[in-house]
Amino acid sequence: MKDKIIVVTGASSGIGWATAEVFSQHGAKLILCGRRKEKLELLASKLKTKSLLLTYDVRDRRAVFEALENLPKEWENVDVLINNAGNAHGFDPVQTASLEDWDAMIDGNVKGLMYVTKALLPQMIKAKKGHIINLGSIAGKEVYPNGSVYCSSKFAVDAFTQGLRLDLNKDGIKVGAIHPGLVKTEFSKVRFKGDGDRANKVYAGIEALSAQDVANVILYMVQVPSCVNVADLVLLPTRQANAYVSNRKS
Ligand code: NAP
Repeated sequence: MKDKIIVVTGASSGIGWATAEVFSQHGAKLILCGRRKEKLELLASKLKTKSLLLTYDVRDRRAVFEALENLPKEWENVDVLINNAGNAHGFDPVQTASLEDWDAMIDGNVKGLMYVTKALLPQMIKAKKGHIINLGSIAGKEVYPNGSVYCSSKFAVDAFTQGLRLDLNKDGIKVGAIHPGLVKTEFSKVRFKGDGDRANKVYAGIEALSAQDVANVILYMVQVPSCVNVADLVLLPTRQANAYVSNRKS
């Protein structure tokens, strides 16, 4: 892992933040991406290894390509891309859901992830090596009520991951996805537009995964031998059976 270059999108919070910390502890150099520059600076100040900060919105196609196609020489040979940036916006049935929320999820979780991937592919293909890990979700395996468009975005991530693995098979590039269940991060607060009480109820009595739990499994996916690819991994809290059945402590 020492001196490998790892790109983490959505590094300013939650799973991305924890993933950057875990990889840094193992000697990797980090390209940290997100919109909130001050958060990325705070993370960089805590890391043990060098980092490069890139501030862009994954929905902004031009900004994504400008940032990732013009990496400084020292940073251009990316070994691993962790496509983590994404969020849920709103929790509503289709009939009453906001179109702005739909756009944010489809443009960010799906198109944004695709732009970032496409921007970094030429270098990986040239090097005949690389590893791309996409953050899907249990919501990309099963649909739950009031989550149709978030689930659609994560089903799309799953399909894109499978297609990418087929297309890159001949190029020696690994492609995989990790699909977590409930993880305690800023995720629900963003989904409920800052309503902390509503967000806390999501995690009540369930012993949700921590961002660190997910980060440790992502590290495992990267550390397996080069002839092994963890292609598709679902990671749930023990108390969660699927996307909508959980055994909550009362
Ligand atoms: P989080 O704490 O809210 O973090 C989301 C990260 O994504 C932030 O760093 C945010 O950075 C970045 N991001 C969001 N929209 C962006 C955009 N348009 N452009 C650039 N960066 C953007 O949530 P998290 O739980 O760590 O989520 C990380 C990933 O895991 C997401 O893809 C999520 O769908 C997936 N996931 C989460 C859970 C869960 O229960 N938490 C479960 C399964 C899957 P800025 O705001 O600074 O841009």
